[in-house]
Amino acid sequence: MNSNKSINKLRFVKNNDFPITTLYLDISDSQKLKNSKVVVHNLYKYKTKKTFYKNMNNTQIESVEQDINGIIKYLNNKISVEDKSIMIISSSKSSVWEVIQFGSKINNDLVIQDAVYLRPLLEAKSAQRKYGIVLIDQGKAKIFERNFNSINELFSVENILSNDRNNSGFKGREERKNERKHEENLHRHYKNVSQSLREIDKRKKFNWIVLGGKNEIFNDFKKYINDGQREKIKMDVVIEPSAKINEVIEIIQKTESKMRNLFEKNLLDKLNDEFYNDQKGVLGLKQVEEALEEGRVDTLIIKEDFHQKGWICKSCSYSSENEVKVCSRCDNTMERTKDISDELVHEALKINANIEYVAIDMEKYEPIAAILRYN
Ligand SMILES: [Zn+2]
Repeated sequence: MNSNKSINKLRFVKNNDFPITTLYLDISDSQKLKNSKVVVHNLYKYKTKKTFYKNMNNTQIESVEQDINGIIKYLNNKISVEDKSIMIISSSKSSVWEVIQFGSKINNDLVIQDAVYLRPLLEAKSAQRKYGIVLIDQGKAKIFERNFNSINELFSVENILSNDRNNSGFKGREERKNERKHEENLHRHYKNVSQSLREIDKRKKFNWIVLGGKNEIFNDFKKYINDGQREKIKMDVVIEPSAKINEVIEIIQKTESKMRNLFEKNLLDKLNDEFYNDQKGVLGLKQVEEALEEGRVDTLIIKEDFHQKGWICKSCSYSSENEVKVCSRCDNTMERTKDISDELVHEALKINANIEYVAIDMEKYEPIAAILRYN
């Protein structure tokens, strides 16, 4: 996940005057959509009992109530359920309103705080990391980008082949000529596709690439692929050239959990290397916080179910798992937080770091760690 642009935009949706309401809602079937207004009401009712809500002034409460009304109005007008889940960000008195569609199911949640609640979004993005799909045969090729909740075709080519090769017993002059022409065509085709793949990968920075086609093509085509892309191809999927594109995509999507696992294993291997060999890795909450403060974090790695309640200084991000009233670093008042790691994620976005939530076991390390830009 290198391009955090859209998420980074959300980070700036931060307002000191008015709170921000973030809603995650599962609307994966029409019944859930129908019930969604009740769900929002109940979540909201529950939030009004929380300390953050109770500490708001009247104008702030007014803003939040406008958020809830706006959300209900939006849900009333929503008829179709083409998305499985949605995320709504609203801060009425700061004129903030944003809806993000999800292709995956998500747990219902409503959070009212001073910044957008990003965790479920970032976790969903880590569950569906960006990768490339290359479908190739002797005559055609397509390249797709699969990213979060979308699939985009980025490249398509048809190679015109000479089909007049016949299979008679011995080769005539004409036949040999045609065969040579066919080989030249194939050479040009593979070269063209591999160059396009290289350019697209340079731009898109795929986390991995899946190759789809027939086995005998893979071996030929792979000779043309540049090293940078070749090492990203961790899986070939045998596909009949006559298969429909939707079916092909469906088959390739089945590789996602396996590929995620592999990606995360590699990520932790890299962390391991950086930590033990280059001192470019840190483990644990305090070490990560310090590295973030110094702007050294390249990739922040958090175990999916890791949460740490505690206290945080909103001005310098100093945190403590135990109650501390005043920041020992800058003398500001410390605030209670339900998750220190969430606060650190906002710091990581500020310095443009990658954020990876991992599903695999991190026991060998700590549930929060980072790979650094320099030591
Ligand atoms: Zn401080």
